[in-house]
Amino acid sequence: MRGTADVSNSKFVDNLLDYDVVVIGAGISGLYQLYRLRKAGFRVCILERGTGVGGTWYWNRYPGARFDSESYSYAYSFSDELLEEWDWSEHFASQPEILRYLEYVGSKFDLLKDIKFGSDVRSATYEEKDKHWKITLADGMAYTTRMLVTAMGVLSEPTFPNIKGIDSFQGDFFHTARWPKDPVTFEGKDVAVIGTGASGVQTIQEISKQVRHLTVFQRRPNWCSPLNNGPITSSEMKAIKSDYKDMFARCAESQGGFIWTIDPRGTFEVTPEERIDFWETLYHGRGMNIYQGNFRDVLVDSRANEAMSDFMAKKIRTRVDDPEIADLLIPKDHGFGTRRVPLETGYYETYNRANVDLIDLNKTPILEITPEGILTSEKEHKTDQIIYATGFNAITGSFDRIDIRGVGGLTLKAQWDRKLETFLAVQVVNFPNFLMVMGPQGLGGNHPRNIEYNVEWITSLLEYMRSENLSEVEPTSEAIRFWSNHIMEKSAASLSNKVDSWMTGVNHNVEGKDTRLIGARYGGSVQSYRGLCDSVAAGSYKEMVFS
Ligand code: NAP
Repeated sequence: MRGTADVSNSKFVDNLLDYDVVVIGAGISGLYQLYRLRKAGFRVCILERGTGVGGTWYWNRYPGARFDSESYSYAYSFSDELLEEWDWSEHFASQPEILRYLEYVGSKFDLLKDIKFGSDVRSATYEEKDKHWKITLADGMAYTTRMLVTAMGVLSEPTFPNIKGIDSFQGDFFHTARWPKDPVTFEGKDVAVIGTGASGVQTIQEISKQVRHLTVFQRRPNWCSPLNNGPITSSEMKAIKSDYKDMFARCAESQGGFIWTIDPRGTFEVTPEERIDFWETLYHGRGMNIYQGNFRDVLVDSRANEAMSDFMAKKIRTRVDDPEIADLLIPKDHGFGTRRVPLETGYYETYNRANVDLIDLNKTPILEITPEGILTSEKEHKTDQIIYATGFNAITGSFDRIDIRGVGGLTLKAQWDRKLETFLAVQVVNFPNFLMVMGPQGLGGNHPRNIEYNVEWITSLLEYMRSENLSEVEPTSEAIRFWSNHIMEKSAASLSNKVDSWMTGVNHNVEGKDTRLIGARYGGSVQSYRGLCDSVAAGSYKEMVFS
């Protein structure tokens, strides 16, 4: 126990504080956290930087943005009424529909009245004597709260490339994750896109049909697989609704929380014909089945992974007319599924269009952005617009931008720069009363499924503290060590840990993030994560110190 807390007098609810709980972020995590905590009787509010709800789906309104997990599996499951009321129009809903859904959730559960929009949190300091957090916004407003819950998302701090002259460009430029609300016109325009991750792929395939000319600047290609989207008929929606309970149960039993489960067979345990037939079926099936429902060894065994990558390379070669362009689009530095697989709709055929060029930045790197375009080692590519699909300062970026100070004034950034450590991806040592929904070292996979679990777990912890009259909580150092070791064990087999990507914490545009951070994410299954979190709760949180 820290300090000299008078346990008998301490109360979780302190009327001198503005709030019992402040949540940062009104995305899928924050909205549900607000709903749960308010229902549990806490004084809670959300501080949200944007002017509306939606988080990821508020900011990423670039052309072509859509779910690449099935809409019905990637939405909330907590309310039967909501499940019954909401009809999805497509298997993979587009961003406008997703945003409408989240706005609907906000109104239906009357959440908006407790959300302070336009609140740009700049600092959060734990005041040890009073055991509370003081939060300050960019406009000078300040709030005090007993507990601080971050619901800021894993991918919310966009990064621009660190290229010379980037501010000199005289045309319009956009980042996919900060897309303007007003429509952007591409007709008759020459447009450049830098970046070929999932955001770049969705943007490129969409705008190539509208622009006069599109130049794609690619550093590393990704293994993209077909989304195979389609409309949902009313009878299909009816069937989906009647299956919701079983579907969510299947998600909870899968490795990543998706509706797809890994095939128990090994790649070489079947005949070559069966193998190809299976992969063909996956390739023509929906969404992530090829990524999340493949043979059990594809993401952990290099030989199996190579065979799968060969299959995907052949697909690219058959879809792209020019063999040299096809070759440029085939990843050489990593195998299938070891970086996040972008889901595409006609992406490869985009490069068969006369108005699209692909520039290989490995052969002709960008030297600088000029007032009129992009100068590579070969020539200046003049353009009207530049779209940066250059990704995020992932996992810790949203924390880094806020001056978060725990015990003794230590900043979270300094602590994590030394070593990224959490307990269950929810708590951090030296940062009492600080809880994270989907924090670092947490599950990837189907975020809404994992968010709901995290939110409910956090809510139960706060209810426990209130019932026990506890006003402060922090994980023990032993608990942190346990989690770090566990993360390493669970990640050891995964081939993706050997590859640079946002999932391994690498972003060459951010100082200090140019090396792989093993243990940035939890490599175990949904059941294994939940099993551990459940056992901590069932054991009355003995991995934590309370006062
Ligand atoms: P990303 O995967 O990190 O891709 C960023 C791209 O920008 C990469 O191609 C990268 O090249 C390139 N890049 C970065 N800096 C560069 C530079 N200085 N010069 C040239 N190229 C540069 O980011 P993202 O595409 O936004 O996707 C991030 C994640 O968001 C995805 O993996 C996915 O999890 C999620 N997402 C989901 C959806 C969906 O569900 N529908 C859609 C979009 C995104 P290198 O690879 O060479 O670094």
